[in-house]
Amino acid sequence: MGVLAKEFTVEKDGTAQVAELLSLLFDDARAIENFGSWVGGEMLRGAGEPISLINPATGAEFMVYPDAGAAVVNKAADAASAAQKQWWALPASGRARLMWACSVKVREQAEALARLESVSAGKPVRDCRVEVAKVAEMFEYYAGWCDKMTGQVIPVPTSHLNYTRHEPYGVVTQITPWNAPVFTCGWQIAPAICAGNGVLLKPSELTPLSSTVLVKLIEDAGIPKGLVNVINGLGQSTGAAAIENPATKKVVFVGSPKTGGLIAAAAAQRVIPCVLELGGKSANIIFDDADLDRAVVGAQAAVFAAAGQSCVSGSRLLVQRGVYDEVVERLASATNKIPVGLPWLDDTMVGPINNLTQFRHVSALVEAGKAGGARIAAGGCGADIEGGEAGYFFRPTVLADVDNSMAVAQEEIFGPVVSVIPFDDEEDAVAIANDSRFGLAGAVWTADVGRAHRMAAAVNAGTFWVNSYKAINVMSPFGGFGESGYGRSSGYEGLLEYTQTKSVWVETAKDAAIQFGYSIE
Ligand code: NAD
Repeated sequence: MGVLAKEFTVEKDGTAQVAELLSLLFDDARAIENFGSWVGGEMLRGAGEPISLINPATGAEFMVYPDAGAAVVNKAADAASAAQKQWWALPASGRARLMWACSVKVREQAEALARLESVSAGKPVRDCRVEVAKVAEMFEYYAGWCDKMTGQVIPVPTSHLNYTRHEPYGVVTQITPWNAPVFTCGWQIAPAICAGNGVLLKPSELTPLSSTVLVKLIEDAGIPKGLVNVINGLGQSTGAAAIENPATKKVVFVGSPKTGGLIAAAAAQRVIPCVLELGGKSANIIFDDADLDRAVVGAQAAVFAAAGQSCVSGSRLLVQRGVYDEVVERLASATNKIPVGLPWLDDTMVGPINNLTQFRHVSALVEAGKAGGARIAAGGCGADIEGGEAGYFFRPTVLADVDNSMAVAQEEIFGPVVSVIPFDDEEDAVAIANDSRFGLAGAVWTADVGRAHRMAAAVNAGTFWVNSYKAINVMSPFGGFGESGYGRSSGYEGLLEYTQTKSVWVETAKDAAIQFGYSIE
């Protein structure tokens, strides 16, 4: 039964909520003071510099914890190496049963986990509930794969039996960002352990709580202690130490392109592979034959969910000239009605931006857009929220008459801001959509089925939607083109990223020794 079965009060200030939720989930009245890294099934505090966590909705500090540092990382690597051997020795069906139990545990504690995520990361609780449910789905989906990772028998032209095995790397390091902490953590842990690996997970230093709780929950479900360890701390110290640790045999990184380059270089120094899931500047394209009611709603869902802090955010809205003014007007009017508020309240659709640096980045790009000639059709500045006066709230914003060469159309904004760009025809739409160094996602709204498929083929993006946006599922591969990264997550392709293929050759011929042509004495 979930810990929130008993009465839980949602207070105005989120700090008390974090303390109460952590105490309940860790069964420790002083969990907020004791927080550190989760290694070998227990809390371990590093000796690194103190890291302060700020409530994005109020600007108030709610806890401080120490950077893990190399000593904690080394212990985590030892724990993961030992537990991985036990884990891989289990029958595949046994691993599957334990992974299914993880999803049951996550569903049991879903409300507490969603509330913790909402208060500490500043995301609307309604979105957090959906993301926690998706984490449970990820464990269910990959539980199903554990005993289906069959190799192939290859009809080689010799007398050998040749077959393949999908083997784990051993220990993998996963480094994740702050925008969807628990979702990203489940997204990568589930396929990693399904494939038989141990894990060092380094969440963003800004949002370590939900990932740490999740790992405790999966241990409660029966996953061996130490198989997954959460090393909490800074990228340049704790993250770098994890990549450098000889136990790490692969790195899966989710974050910004700038850090992705550093991670790939560090992995290359050790000659270990990496997967990079990076940023985006996705084009959401509306043709004049589209169902505009659906397209206008879709354009808002594409960019304003999670206050725009989503890698697939439809931050460039390309609209055909014939319907441009109408779309801008309807979108601006609808945008002004979006409820912006404290993230832990049920009816909030847009919460604060996660941190001050990001808030300033969003504000600066909007100002640069305005200076470059873009027109504010809605929003355009910070929002005053009762109870969140010092929080990082930015009004959902529609910037019209944007030219694709402007910084606001080229840089990832990661905020609730959509740049609306006019286009003439199909060729023009494709040229503008592809005039970006990113290639994460894209969408088209049209009634013409042939055009929909032409656009799907022509736009450079790892994911493309037709008359829809943001449909994603753990069953379907996800990843980037261009500077949005390489490698794939989710689905069977995502699972294969956590395996290395071994080719086994077994001689079956009676006269095998003679075939080599050497003497037997
Ligand atoms: P970031 O790159 O600043 O940080 C990501 C992680 O890298 C953090 O855990 C950080 O501590 C760590 N890190 C930083 N420097 C490091 C170093 N030198 N060595 C090792 N680790 C280091 O990104 P962010 O600001 O936290 O997140 C936002 C970015 O994430 C956006 O660009 C967004 O598009 C991207 N993102 C991508 C996806 C995807 O699936 N493609 C999903 C979510 C977010």
